[in-house]
Amino acid sequence: MASQYDNQLPRTYGELLALPGVGDYTASAVMSFAFGERIAVIDTNIRRVISRVFRGGESFGGAASPVERETARRLLPENDRASVVWNQSLMELGATVCTAKAPLCDRCPIAGQCAFLRNGRPGLGERRTRPRQRFQGTDRQVRGLVLEALRGLPAGSVLEREQAERLWKDRIQLDACIASLDDDGLVEMLADGSLRLPQ
Ligand code: SF4
Repeated sequence: MASQYDNQLPRTYGELLALPGVGDYTASAVMSFAFGERIAVIDTNIRRVISRVFRGGESFGGAASPVERETARRLLPENDRASVVWNQSLMELGATVCTAKAPLCDRCPIAGQCAFLRNGRPGLGERRTRPRQRFQGTDRQVRGLVLEALRGLPAGSVLEREQAERLWKDRIQLDACIASLDDDGLVEMLADGSLRLPQ
């Protein structure tokens, strides 16, 4: 693998993602912070800040949803350099001020623009809980279908979003099951919403 790239880091998101053990977050972070490219980096801190400031609600953890990814992409400044500073700033704010359980809103530099604060900080610090199933097996069935589809693909292939949506007609349940698989480290969700088995 190293000789394939002449002992240099690959320069594209797709090439980075193809490296063993590299997922969406690492590939995006390298593209942004090492190469200065315009790309949304979505880690836990950035998700929390975006969710609170721009969507006015708590980020409940688990896998980034397609809506969260789209919001992060939409907010990214057009200019390459500005987009890197943006990613760094959100990450830093989330790590030091807008923390998960005790955000320092009274000292926050963007408190005046924060929809979450304006809304009274609903659900502060709550994590997503998986609802207990009334009928045993339904989520297990969906999770099994997704895993089965992934295992049936040729090595290195991804399950496109449209293919996943054909597996189960209840999109909300499907998304929840995919998120739980991602939480459990059994699948990896890529930036475009496609899935693959962990590398
Ligand atoms: S005002 Fe509070 S919730 Fe909003 S970004 Fe700042 S620290 Fe986070």
